[in-house]
Order: sequence, then structure tokens, then C-alpha cells
Amino acid sequence: MAYQHIKLPEGGQKITRENGELKVPDNPIVGFVEGDGTGVDITPPVQRILDAGIEKAYGGKRKIHWAELYMGEKAAGIYNGDYFPEESLEAIKDLKVAIKGPLTTPVGEGFRSLNVSLRQSLDLFACVRPVKYYEGVPSPLRKPEEVDVVIFRENTEDVYAGIEYESGSAENEKLSRFLREEMGANFFEDAGLGVKPISPFGTKRLVRKAIEWAIEQGRESVTLVHKGNIMKFTEGAFRKWGYEVAAEEFPEQTITEDELWEKYDGKRPEGKIVIKDRIADIMFQLMMLRPGDFDVLATMNLNGDYLSDAAAAEVGGIGIAPGANISDEVAVFEATHGTAPKHAGKDKVNPGSLLFSATMMLDYMGWNEASELIQQAYEKVVTNKVVTYDFARQMDGAREVKTSEFADEVIKNL
Ligand code: NAP
Repeated sequence: MAYQHIKLPEGGQKITRENGELKVPDNPIVGFVEGDGTGVDITPPVQRILDAGIEKAYGGKRKIHWAELYMGEKAAGIYNGDYFPEESLEAIKDLKVAIKGPLTTPVGEGFRSLNVSLRQSLDLFACVRPVKYYEGVPSPLRKPEEVDVVIFRENTEDVYAGIEYESGSAENEKLSRFLREEMGANFFEDAGLGVKPISPFGTKRLVRKAIEWAIEQGRESVTLVHKGNIMKFTEGAFRKWGYEVAAEEFPEQTITEDELWEKYDGKRPEGKIVIKDRIADIMFQLMMLRPGDFDVLATMNLNGDYLSDAAAAEVGGIGIAPGANISDEVAVFEATHGTAPKHAGKDKVNPGSLLFSATMMLDYMGWNEASELIQQAYEKVVTNKVVTYDFARQMDGAREVKTSEFADEVIKNL
């Protein structure tokens, strides 16, 4: 397709998919959205670190060709006030892999979050959030080195589906009447009502992705997180369908926790992934007390939203928590924090969130060597107590540097 404002770099080749499998050339075109607010501070340094890490790992054999795509305020300036141009969506579908900085949600009635719109338009049903400790990063835990989980949060269902009826509205009254008179339900007068859809389709495609990821990355377990003891037909069903997809589609690669004890005396056979489940409330405790027991977590939308932020707080918090939104076709890696407007343009904030989203992207592309090099260099820099303001205020004796200087340090330590 011919683009109006997007220019695909010459010399790059598109990433493709063949029979579901991602095919990454040595000169892939990767889309990037700079992002609003602090996007201008973090995106260019992260691209610099990536380019340097790839050069170091593959000696010039591999190189990303960046294609700028536009969303948010920059898009509005170029596309006559359109914050969410159709051609940027088309380009993401076409390029298969993209990375984005944070986007402002303009305040005003009827303006939907661009991030939510992006997830829905591209049906990016899995939000993937790795939570891992890097040496030197300030943490409230006694043994933060035990934290190394990847959370797969369902992105499209649950109480986030937007099926809500305001107290006092005609729709609410109609639904209340139906629930009371025809379904025998009992609740207080004028209660606002929301619907929590959890489907076998939505659950299975999410849990399938989590298991596939666990297999590819050599992980040991997938834990289904739910509150099925209370919400039996939604959260309980998520648990049931999760076990089903493991048994039906991955019988050779997975065993249940019951089987682990009954057949293998608690010792995981090499190469098998243990499928287990935990009730959501105890999961929050366990992530603090015994984080080493967990590996890949599969959650519904709301539980995953809470759990991913709580877990990220254990290992440095919002400034370094990475994430991606993926479907079976495309993947969009992103900074998980917002645009932090008060810090915008000051070359001050932590680039870690976008940087680790970028290393996740390299892993996704199969360029693990470059990803590993960058993560090791990051760890060296932070261990030397060279950090941005957010870490400096939590560490004794740290040297505070600007975002761009931090990137220079990482590159020097590759
Ligand atoms: P925010 O931009 O995430 O900022 C909240 C605070 O988090 C900042 O003031 C800063 O805390 C800290 N922080 C954020 N990014 C950081 C970084 N890179 N390094 C270190 N600290 C960082 O949240 P917000 O102020 O609520 O939202 C601002 C805008 O962003 C809104 O328009 C919102 O809609 C949007 N948003 C976008 C996304 C996204 O694109 N994925 C996500 C969330 C929000 P201190 O000042 O205390 O140091």
C-alpha cells in the first residue's frame, strides 16, 4: 500500500509470517511511534542503544531499519488533527512488529484512550508484561533476585468490555427488572450494573499464547490466576478452560501440578511445563513472599492489571516496567508508563521501560544475543550507581545522569 506520510526505509525488508511463524530478515523494517510528552526523551536513546547492541552482537550482519509511524499529538500535527491515523494501523499490520512511546489521552468527553483503541483495532488480545529483577535496581523485597515472571493479561474481555449501565438510566432499569423478575437475582435498588464476559475463545487464545511463550522461552510453569472460588462461571471457567487448552493442545509439553506430585514425586521432568492455578488474592501474597515459585502467569483483564503493577513495584516500578500487546499476527511493544508531562523535554526520565520493551522485541524477533548484551550492560551501569533521577532518589551515593547520558553509559558498557 502507498502511504501518505509514512516512509518505509530503503534497504530494509519487511518481517513476514509463514504458516503462523515469524520470519525476520537480517535487515528488518521495524515501526516506531515516538510518543507524546517524554516520548521525545526516551525513544531516540532507546533506538541508539538497540542499534549499538545489535551492531555489537552481530558485527554488522544484522540491522534494524526504523520506519517512523505517527500516533498521538505528532500525528495530529501531520494528519490534520487526526490522533489515530488509519495508515499507522495499516503499517503496523504490514510490518508485524512495532514499538511505541507513551501517548496522551486528550481530556474530553468521548475521546477514547489511544492505547485502548490500538489494542482493539488490531485485536491485540494479550498484554505481556515481564517482571524481572536487575542487579542494583532499588527494591522493597529482601530477595528481589527471585522475581522473574512474565504476566500474560487478557486484553479484551472481563469487566473492561465496557458493558455497563448507569444507575437510574432506562437501560439499567430494564436490565434490573429482567434480572430480578426473570432470573431471580437480588441486589440493592439503583445499583449500577456491569457485565463480566469471560469466554472459552478469549480464555483459550490467551492461555495458548502463554503456553507457547513458555515453550519457546524454556520456562518451567504457567500459573492460571483467578478468583474462581467466588465467581464460578467467569473466573472459575477461565481456570477450567485454561487447563483444557493445555491438555488438548499441548499434551506432550505440559503436565498439571497434580500430575507433578502423583506421577513424578514433585520433580518436574526435563522439558515439561507445569500448569497450575492460584486464587488471585493469595497470588498477591505469594508474589511478595515466594516469587521464585512463579514463572509465566496467565490472568484475566482486571486481575492482570493489578498484578502487573504490583509485581513491577517489586523490581523498580513504573520507570522500568516493560510490556507488549500481541495478537497472533502482530506485536506492539510499548513503554507502560504515561507521558509524564511535567518531565517532558527535559532529558530526565528513565528510559528503562521502553528499553526493556525493546529487548523483549529483540527476543520476539529471535535476536536474543543482542537483547542479552543490552540487559547485561544496563545491569552494569545501574550497579555502578549511574542512574536517572527516579532511581537516584532511592539509592545512596548514586550519580544522577540525564536520559541521553544514561544511554551513552549503556552503550559504553556493551
Ligand atoms: P505517567 O505519565 O505514567 O506519570 C506518572 C508519574 O510516574 C510521573 O510523574 C513520574 O513520577 C513517574 N514516571 C512516568 N514515567 C517515568 C519514567 N520514564 N521514568 C521515571 N518516572 C516516570 O502518568 P500520568 O501523569 O497519570 O499520565 C500522563 C498522560 O499519560 C495521560 O495523558 C495518560 O492518559 C497517559 N498515559 C499513557 C499511557 C501509555 O501510553 N501507555 C499509560 C498511562 C498513562 P514522579 O514525577 O513522581 O517522579
